[in-house]
Amino acid sequence: MVQESKYKVGIVGGGPAGCICAYFLQNDCDVTIFEMNEPLKTLLPTGGGRCNLAHCEYDFKELAANYPRGEKFLYSVFSKFSTADTLEFFKSIGVDTYVQDDMRIFPVSNSSADVRKKFLKAISKVTFINEKVLRINSGEPHNIVTDSGSYEFDAVVISIGGHASYNMCQYLGHTIIEPKKALVGLLTQEDTSELAGVSVKLTEGDLLFTHKGISGPYAYKLSSLNARESFPYNITLKLAPEIDLQQVLNTNPHKSIKNVLSEKVPRSLAVYILNKLNINPDTKAHQINGSTRDLIMDSLNNFKLTITGTFTSGEVVTCGGVALNEVNASTMESKLVSGIYFCGEVLDIDGFCGGFNLQNCWSGGYVAAQAILCKAVC
Ligand SMILES: Cc1cc2nc3c(=O)[nH]c(=O)nc-3n(C[C@H](O)[C@H](O)[C@H](O)COP(=O)(O)OP(=O)(O)OC[C@H]3O[C@@H](n4cnc5c(N)ncnc54)[C@H](O)[C@@H]3O)c2cc1C
Repeated sequence: MVQESKYKVGIVGGGPAGCICAYFLQNDCDVTIFEMNEPLKTLLPTGGGRCNLAHCEYDFKELAANYPRGEKFLYSVFSKFSTADTLEFFKSIGVDTYVQDDMRIFPVSNSSADVRKKFLKAISKVTFINEKVLRINSGEPHNIVTDSGSYEFDAVVISIGGHASYNMCQYLGHTIIEPKKALVGLLTQEDTSELAGVSVKLTEGDLLFTHKGISGPYAYKLSSLNARESFPYNITLKLAPEIDLQQVLNTNPHKSIKNVLSEKVPRSLAVYILNKLNINPDTKAHQINGSTRDLIMDSLNNFKLTITGTFTSGEVVTCGGVALNEVNASTMESKLVSGIYFCGEVLDIDGFCGGFNLQNCWSGGYVAAQAILCKAVC
């Protein structure tokens, strides 16, 4: 009896998105991943080596609200595969998870290396080719051209991430939304060296001053929200929104204003603000009149910074990539070329810190796999 050959799927990029797509295809299709580096190596630095693989948000619309780019597109994707499915998938490959206080989800092992090991074991039916893909010639079949050869496939998934060769997508006719850095520290025009190392807890997340500007979760969020702004642009921080300064002054009349403020904000920040306002930090609290009090509060809660650029290192995700209006959100298939699919960071989708960017990979990879399976076995 002649055995019918399996539907052949070529996946370009063996990062989280490509590998989860391969996982869901491997039983019914003949799957090959082209990876120019090592598969799932990009998972290793995630979550500081602990792999923040998802976020504890089970409502798919609420989940999608954490993506400055891609929110509406993700409604459809997350309605098919969301946080609960991610956790189930990881459990099925032997990765148990837990939720941290800030709702980020990590593996119990707290080890990206452990997740990677188990994930690779779970995709043992997949063939890996360690070559760089140069371009894809569309047709029936599609032809993947690498630096060492050329291969034919019924369907091709492009999951090359956000730091890669977009020209293979442009070659297929796709528009690339200009890539910009997101989730990155911000350079400031103001000299922040005096404040270097000062960390402020804000409702939106912690903010860390550095020698060159600002960093930490809230700075990353600002970098993401403003990723499409051109430099320079201004931001205003509320560094002490909760303080009732008059009440603090009244209860500590003989303390220096520096010491009074230091109970509410880091001492060096208090001194920095007082010096900027030409107020002697040793002035007693009872000597601070109403207008000086208002000046201090205004400086704390209208703390203006001019952002001149992003830090050169530490980029976490790319804002930009393949234009979403050219991709079908129900299948992840290209609207321009039949049989070409996209998933992960190569798309113009990026989320805040907290497990959202990996969730985009898990969900998009799953949806692409289901759509391909439908063609392969239906
Ligand atoms: C330091 C750091 C920490 C992070 N921490 C987290 C976190 O804790 N939680 C979270 O949700 N997100 C995190 N992210 C973001 C997350 O890692 C990415 O969003 C995710 O890896 C994107 O997955 P991907 O599969 O789309 O692309 P990638 O992970 O970039 O994988 C793409 C793969 O394609 C390969 N490739 C590219 N071009 C070619 C080619 N031409 N031929 C062959 N192969 C090619 C690359 O070598 C790569 O292996 C972090 C990112 C960084 C940089």
